[in-house]
Amino acid sequence: MAPERFFLELDPPACALRDWPHVVIVGGGFAGLKACHALAGKPVRVTLIDKRNFNLFQPLLYQVASGLVSEADVASPLRQMVGQAPNIQVLLGEVVDIDPQAREVVFNDHRYGYDHLILASGSGSTYFGREEWRPLAPPMKILEHADEIRRRLLMALEEAEQTLDPERRRFLQTVVVVGAGPAGCELAGSLIELMHRAIRRDFKQLDHDLCRVVLVDPLERVLPTMHPKLSAAAAGYLQQAGVELRLQAKVEAIAPGRVSLRGADGLQPLEAATICWTAGVRASRLGVLLAERTGCPVDRGGRLLVEPDFSVPGHPDIHAVGDLCAYLHTSDGKPLPGMAGPAVQMGGWVAAHILARREGRSLEPFRFTDLGSMAVIGPWYAVADLRGLHVTGLAGWILWALAHLAFIPDSENRITLFTKWMWQIATRQRTALLITGRPDQHLGVDVGLFRAELHAEPDAADMDEDSAPLAA
Ligand SMILES: Cc1cc2nc3c(=O)[nH]c(=O)nc-3n(C[C@H](O)[C@H](O)[C@H](O)COP(=O)(O)OP(=O)(O)OC[C@H]3O[C@@H](n4cnc5c(N)ncnc54)[C@H](O)[C@@H]3O)c2cc1C
Repeated sequence: MAPERFFLELDPPACALRDWPHVVIVGGGFAGLKACHALAGKPVRVTLIDKRNFNLFQPLLYQVASGLVSEADVASPLRQMVGQAPNIQVLLGEVVDIDPQAREVVFNDHRYGYDHLILASGSGSTYFGREEWRPLAPPMKILEHADEIRRRLLMALEEAEQTLDPERRRFLQTVVVVGAGPAGCELAGSLIELMHRAIRRDFKQLDHDLCRVVLVDPLERVLPTMHPKLSAAAAGYLQQAGVELRLQAKVEAIAPGRVSLRGADGLQPLEAATICWTAGVRASRLGVLLAERTGCPVDRGGRLLVEPDFSVPGHPDIHAVGDLCAYLHTSDGKPLPGMAGPAVQMGGWVAAHILARREGRSLEPFRFTDLGSMAVIGPWYAVADLRGLHVTGLAGWILWALAHLAFIPDSENRITLFTKWMWQIATRQRTALLITGRPDQHLGVDVGLFRAELHAEPDAADMDEDSAPLAA
């Protein structure tokens, strides 16, 4: 086992820190980050382990996918966010196993001890047993997914710009979004705005009337978790903007460039160059892994059924929060939704609970404060369900913008996003429409080099980057 050098060089003196209990937090998303903030400066030493070196603001991923903002506008390095607190260490690595008996997590070939473990590893997408659909219809869970959706869409539009065949053009200019929850509606609304307005002047050959965004869902209304009035308002706005709704239509199959839908009229094929998937969520695999290690029950989505204090039954030192847990200790017995608000409140409460336990105090039981839910459907248009108060249109958009700006954990991103939103609304132009991640444009591509030079035997000069021959 690797020796624990961790914290030895830090101030305050190592002896004090070494005696402090060790809280390991897995996952620096909404829940894990909040727990970190709550433990910063407290008499515990904290290790935050994440497989990415940044915190991602998932609610705005659709804006990256549709070229409204860039990757760094919705993500911030964890080291800058919490790593500067003297009692917090940030480590990059994927936790692959947990040993509850030895009180250790396993990552990067290390076994790492803990006194308290907070698991906040979130959730991923699921294709309900049809994993072969994943490469054909990318999900929207991480930055790379959003990049991939943007790349596919922009590549299709570039090809359409050079295509004479109207049938092929129609295919290239069609996008299918599967799933009409908030993420699907937001993506569909943003894509139709992009295709009908934002690029109208940029792509001169495109036939804008052929640009189609089709939103598909097996249920009978969009935004099914919101009040029917808001669903109707959102559906009306989307249709007016040009989005085609295919509701009560189940995806039967996905093949390259084709989605087969089963609805009231039987099986219907839908041809589209770009297909996106926002339909299914499944808890991080650490949920099932911990269930195997501890016997903790999980629900159908792989979420751990935790105790009222978010601990795993029989293991008061292990807590699961955020999308990873199913919290059923609510007044109506329904699980808390897999959303940012509950995740943040859970992370903060568990951190306070651990501190209280160390001090021999007990904390008020966890009470979720429901702040409502929102979805932005277009520029200046959002729907908001604020605990029974229903707001639509511009007022909804202002509430949405304020709530998201307040929730964004990074001040610089807050300013950047607000500026970009205003710029986009004023000009209808998008600045992040970059095609990156092309397989033929990666490291090692012969940019600026003559082919003959590339294929020549390397000599000493070629090995030195600074003296590599450039094209005249
Ligand atoms: C496209 C989209 C739009 C959304 N829109 C909204 C919205 O408008 N409003 C809202 O309230 N909610 C929204 N949500 C849901 C919300 O983002 C989640 O509920 C929230 O992120 C859950 O927080 P979390 O801390 O549990 O997990 P996450 O925020 O997902 O964080 C999990 C972290 O764990 C890390 N991790 C995972 N596995 C490991 C491992 N094995 N080892 C180490 N690190 C690991 C990940 O890298 C990640 O940083 C949206 C989600 C998506 C995908």
